[in-house]
Amino acid sequence: MDSALSFEIEAVCPWSGARAAILRTPHGVIETPVFMPVGTNGTLKALTFDQVERTGAEIVLANSYHLYLRPGSDLVARAGGIHSFIGWPKPVLTDSGGFQVFSLTALRKITEEGVFFKDHRTGRGHFIGPKESMKIQNEIGADIIMAFDDCVKNPATYDQAKAAMDRTHRWLETCVENHKNTSVQSLFGIVQGSIYKDLRTTSAQTVTAIDLPGYAVGGVAVGEARPAVEEVVMYTTPLLPAHKPRYLMGIGTPWDIAYAIRCGIDMFDCVSPTRLARHGSVFSSEGRLSLRLSKCINDFSPIDPDCDCYTCKNHSRAYLAHLVRSKETAGGTLLSIHNVTYLLRQAKLARQAIIAGKFKEYFETIERAHNAEETTASELIDLPG
Ligand SMILES: [Zn+2]
Repeated sequence: MDSALSFEIEAVCPWSGARAAILRTPHGVIETPVFMPVGTNGTLKALTFDQVERTGAEIVLANSYHLYLRPGSDLVARAGGIHSFIGWPKPVLTDSGGFQVFSLTALRKITEEGVFFKDHRTGRGHFIGPKESMKIQNEIGADIIMAFDDCVKNPATYDQAKAAMDRTHRWLETCVENHKNTSVQSLFGIVQGSIYKDLRTTSAQTVTAIDLPGYAVGGVAVGEARPAVEEVVMYTTPLLPAHKPRYLMGIGTPWDIAYAIRCGIDMFDCVSPTRLARHGSVFSSEGRLSLRLSKCINDFSPIDPDCDCYTCKNHSRAYLAHLVRSKETAGGTLLSIHNVTYLLRQAKLARQAIIAGKFKEYFETIERAHNAEETTASELIDLPG
């Protein structure tokens, strides 16, 4: 397949296989490993794109399902594509809509051609399959587009996982046949197979047998226990070609990011920084912090003294706690600025460590902090916006 992408590896950590690379797209250059903030409806919730730019984001993700339903992918096309429509000239990635169709919609009917479903807001009937997903994503016009897959929720039996995987493979062929803009948009294939290693192997072999610009590990953090997520990522990532970008879909806490990079992942996305911000929580070098805690009311220090985001440079925990308690919109904005910046910086620090030959030390520091902190598995699951 023609590719609008180029991927150049700069350094590989011999201990782990973690990579630093340059990914070139029609709308700009991305230094990997990279965190991709999610702009579900063509916006990162509570942030303007000027603010997004200042977080250091190099690429944002948009959801095809949401844009298809409202305002309509044809309208985005008439606006000149997603970059013109949202006013963000840098790279954009769209998901296929598959995850939302399977997870958000009621009254689904799955056929070999795709999925009939009802709009989660209006109740109106729609149909999206691999062919329709390619049309929608071609109209939206992101730099990187994703194959339409069947992402089975966990726990899934072996037979359920295999059926979804086989369908994903058949749908990938339809996606390849129907993708019209190969010169400007790069289609990534998605490896499925749930928690079953032999299925992951089969899926990786089948998907990578098709020459695509990049590949993704899908179906992780969809209901399984944390150790299972890590095992799948550790097992599956090396099955993907080393010379192409590898994308782990839907994860994004500081620990998730470090672990994914350690496994050889280059790209990851998650709604967690903006969602947590809206709930008054922030990432910090001391772990996750809720600004609703009474100890923040009189704390005049920044969220994180090492963070150089606008929020940490200008505001104290006390002020932010006041905004959160008063339900002020600016609170969500300021916490989102910090959380997005924080995760972007985590990926950038990992990148610097890989290039400097110090990734093992970097990872072990993060691992110690992670082991010291209790994590809540439910917060790691990627839910919509
Ligand atoms: Zn900050």
